[in-house]
Amino acid sequence: RAKQDGRARFHFFSAEIEESLRSRHRLASDLRLALEGRQFRLHYQPQVAAGSGRIVGVEALLRWPRSGAPATSPAAFIPMAEESGLIVPLGAWVLGEACAAACRWRDAGAPTRVSVNVSAVQFLDPGWLDLVRATLARTGLTAGLLELEITEGVLARDLPRTLGIINELKAIGVSIALDDFGTGYSSLSYLKRFPIDVLKIDQSFVREMTDDPCDAAIVGAVTRMAQGLGLQLVAEGVETPAQADLLAQLGCGIMQGYRFSRPVPEEDLLRLLLHGTLTPDP
Ligand code: C2E
Ligand code: MG
Ligand code: MG
Ligand code: MG
Repeated sequence: RAKQDGRARFHFFSAEIEESLRSRHRLASDLRLALEGRQFRLHYQPQVAAGSGRIVGVEALLRWPRSGAPATSPAAFIPMAEESGLIVPLGAWVLGEACAAACRWRDAGAPTRVSVNVSAVQFLDPGWLDLVRATLARTGLTAGLLELEITEGVLARDLPRTLGIINELKAIGVSIALDDFGTGYSSLSYLKRFPIDVLKIDQSFVREMTDDPCDAAIVGAVTRMAQGLGLQLVAEGVETPAQADLLAQLGCGIMQGYRFSRPVPEEDLLRLLLHGTLTPDP
């Protein structure tokens, strides 16, 4: 009886594993086809100065609209793109598209810094620095209008190599943001060792800061630390007026979140840029 159960369970699990392998394989090949078929899009989310409500930059976020399927978050498919290596050509497309869009905004009279997410696999790819240089040259974007967002995980991979790459990028004139700060492998020594320009405090701290004094204390401390280190601080995931007020009170300079705008297509962003500040309704 027990033996039978065991066997049944084994079959059950192996079928489950097989199905999961099949669906992962399907996702990997769907991603490849989507890249070849030019199905990916970028949306752009404003980063807003706390005082003036002015848009000081935008973050490019990958979108994969699929007919007949619900939109899949990059959080779900980026890991597969990383695992399969597709992130390298996909990331190259993202960089090119974001730089081209920033050129179009500039040419329309609204020069705006664009921030591009870069995963560890891309950042440590041997062709990465050449790709950044070539993309800037091809699109004609000034390096000062490009920012790259990396996570603490990238820094932890290969310290000397990462430092070398960051120094090269800084020499080109590209700025570096540390994304999702406070999650992952936070080590304060990174802030000392790496010439980072921007800290993005993770939305998990922002989400409950108006209810949880611990989160508010963390955000306040990170704000002061950023000020002391001469870094810009961006709060991610700002959804409510109360969060925005508290962040401003704590001295956080830049905010990003649904409170101000969702990530929007390029043309909508241009409209936001041209038609002044993004001061939300009271
Ligand atoms: P991230 O870089 O931390 O991006 C912020 C995420 O928070 C985005 O999710 C954004 O849509 C979402 N968000 C913005 N404001 C709010 C808010 O007020 N409330 C809430 N709940 N969420 C908000 P998204 O677009 O689903 O992207 C998820 C993650 O996927 C990104 O996190 C980033 O790690 C990764 N990703 C997105 N695009 C790219 C890309 O082009 N390349 C790479 N390598 N990774 C990307
Ligand atoms: Mg990001
Ligand atoms: Mg983030
Ligand atoms: Mg994230």
